[in-house]
Amino acid sequence: MKILILGGTGEGRALAEKLAGDHNVVTSLAGATSSVLKIAGEVRVGGFGGEDGLADYLNQKKIEKLIDATHPFAAQMTDHAVKACVKTNTPYLRLDRPAWTMPPDAKVVFVSDMAEAARLVARTSRSAFLTIGQKGLENFQGLDSVKLLVRAIEGFDSNLKLENVTYVSARPPFALNAEISLMQLHQIDTLVSKASGGEATRAKLDGAAKIGARIILTRRPPSPDGERVFNVKDAVAWISKTP
Ligand code: NAP
Repeated sequence: MKILILGGTGEGRALAEKLAGDHNVVTSLAGATSSVLKIAGEVRVGGFGGEDGLADYLNQKKIEKLIDATHPFAAQMTDHAVKACVKTNTPYLRLDRPAWTMPPDAKVVFVSDMAEAARLVARTSRSAFLTIGQKGLENFQGLDSVKLLVRAIEGFDSNLKLENVTYVSARPPFALNAEISLMQLHQIDTLVSKASGGEATRAKLDGAAKIGARIILTRRPPSPDGERVFNVKDAVAWISKTP
């Protein structure tokens, strides 16, 4: 069977690994990072050109099923995928991340976007740990009274005017002890993140709770209607049970 995985996540890579022996699997990446871990099966890189572009791709490549394993905050790609699948009558499955349960003693504030997170940081933090990827960092420009520790997989935009900033490049998963040490070293009082869910990056929440730092999380975009699973095993089972 020919299957398209919309990837860019550890879950997408794990799914490709499970399916590639039995199926013709293509994983699609946006091309946001230049260094990519090895992915089983075929890999294609770059946008499709909106929902119509993706619909054309599904038809041309005779894709029989699509599994959307993109990050929970990649809302545009998910929206396009749902619409393109309806248009082409391609079965769609969302491989989602379970939402985080918060550590019992955590001081958590949910906000609607990074602009609100940045305003809160400006008012209440002296040293903030930003684990938000690249998008949204511009909201933290001009916070000259706050030290920023910024972590992303790679590449920081040199046009950004962040004050008092330290950059760290690292790829998940992260271990609890390492997260605590990093936050203690930088005297972090506030962690800023997206409420992405999943296990690979949750250690920062537990670490922040442990050292008494406040946690600011942007709320997840709504999940799409339709079939959803929360682990790779159930996604593999969906392939065989869906006509
Ligand atoms: P997005 O805002 O939902 O998508 C923007 C555009 O990028 C889409 O319309 C599509 O372009 C293209 N695109 C996104 N994911 C793609 C994929 N897997 N294959 C081909 N094209 C893709 O997405 P995003 O938040 O920028 O995320 C981009 C990628 O990074 C995704 O694969 C996601 O899984 C991964 N990622 C995102 C985050 C995050 O916090 N957002 C974190 C970790 C990993 P066209 O309209 O031209 O098709």
